[in-house]
Amino acid sequence: MTDFNAGYSMTIGGEAVESAATVEVFNPATRQVIANVPDSSRAHLDAAVAAGAKAFRRWRESSHAERAAALNAIADVLQGQAPAFMALLTKEQGKPRAGAEWEVMGSVHWLREVAKQSLPEELIEDTADRRVVTRFSPLGVVGAITPWNFPILLAVAKIAPAIAAGNTLVLKPSPFTPLCTLKLGELCRHVLPAGLLNVVSGGDDLGKWMTAHPDIAKIAFTGHTETGKSVMRSAAGTLKRITLELGGNDPAIVLPDVDARAIAPQLFWAAFQNSAQFCNAAKRLYVHEAVYDDVLRELVAYARTQKVGDGADPDTALGPIQNEPQYRKLFEYFDDCRRNGYRFALGGEIDPDASGWYVPVSIVDNPPEHSRLVAEEPFGPILPVLKWRDEEDVIRRANDTVYGLGASVWGQDLAAVERIGTRLEAGTVWLNEVHQYSPHQAFGGHKQSGIGCENSIHGLMEYTNWHTITLNKKPGFGRGRLGAAA
Ligand code: NAD
Repeated sequence: MTDFNAGYSMTIGGEAVESAATVEVFNPATRQVIANVPDSSRAHLDAAVAAGAKAFRRWRESSHAERAAALNAIADVLQGQAPAFMALLTKEQGKPRAGAEWEVMGSVHWLREVAKQSLPEELIEDTADRRVVTRFSPLGVVGAITPWNFPILLAVAKIAPAIAAGNTLVLKPSPFTPLCTLKLGELCRHVLPAGLLNVVSGGDDLGKWMTAHPDIAKIAFTGHTETGKSVMRSAAGTLKRITLELGGNDPAIVLPDVDARAIAPQLFWAAFQNSAQFCNAAKRLYVHEAVYDDVLRELVAYARTQKVGDGADPDTALGPIQNEPQYRKLFEYFDDCRRNGYRFALGGEIDPDASGWYVPVSIVDNPPEHSRLVAEEPFGPILPVLKWRDEEDVIRRANDTVYGLGASVWGQDLAAVERIGTRLEAGTVWLNEVHQYSPHQAFGGHKQSGIGCENSIHGLMEYTNWHTITLNKKPGFGRGRLGAAA
């Protein structure tokens, strides 16, 4: 039985591995150090990649049933220790119990559903003379790199398809939230073949070493757009496959026919879930001028009912900012709004002396489109509410960004909702709902929000190479041809 209060070690080749150097991990609600985790050296990384490569020799031949069993075994350990994982997630990430439960139980569901997915085998030609099949074969050792906002779920979104497609992994969590991931690796030592899932911890340099490592075949990365560009540059050296899930600046468009009071809670959670440390948070709220005042008033009224505090407190709706650099970055957005005279409809002051990295829910009343708050991704609980009148204009404004991760449209007139929604340039567009995900639904970003996708059969195939096998059933000299007519 894994002790959640004991120390943390890396998992390499099925064994616990410590390191002389360590990284401090903080509880964002108290600013106190809660653990020290190994700071992996290059030698540790090499050992983890070698363990993954060794395990791959066998795992690449595994049957669908074996792969499904491995994913269900990971789901079992996560589910079996779900309360301990939720408590640890709250402690290291800051999110309240409801968010921790959503993430842990959602991860269990993810693993069990991906276990049911299988790769197609395409029969292109099967005649008396020839048989042509395209299969999807595994890549090798996958390097998975995750951020700090959903550390378990985003790790699972990489572990599950990588293993299901016949690969092995070296997984690196964010240095800010490594604890749950290291515990998951520890629990998996008992249920997975050695080397199938290796978990290493350390700083950003470890991520860079992974992206350049000659024996890692693919990088599955979630994080900032700028980091994603570095990953792509570095991975180019060995032409690794990459899947990049990057930043977003999701617009939410509210039509004139909404009921302001009824929609306010939905819009609030669209924007502030996980204290707005959410790639898919609604980060620009465009409200039609006919209902603008009503929606703003109801949004502020609802926001006042939601408590910001320590996620371990059952009354807390929104936890602290997860780490100090992100907390410091948010000051810049608040200062910029004040300096430019934008009006705060709610909040506006961060108390720098609070016991944790707390930022109050803040709503800014119609700042200019070019303001930093509207143009950038603050990744914290400060939301611009913007006014619109003309449909073409709001679509143009919503699409006028380098990002294209998600978007939402809200209204009673379903034809208008769909008409606007289908013109939004984003990987996922939600109509009268938000943040509905599924392991069977492709997820990824347009433009600078990413490359490739996760989830669904499309996401699974990103962990494979096309492998076309042609068989001439009547061996003899055959010239090349271009299809049947050639
Ligand atoms: P980040 O880019 O700072 O870090 C992400 C991970 O990359 C961490 O594990 C980090 O140690 C590692 N890393 C840092 N520099 C690296 C480098 N040069 N090479 C390789 N790895 C490196 O991002 P973050 O602050 O942890 O996460 C927040 C960002 O993630 C936001 O922009 C958010 O929108 C985005 N995000 C996107 C999705 C999505 O699915 N599209 C989901 C969650 C978060």
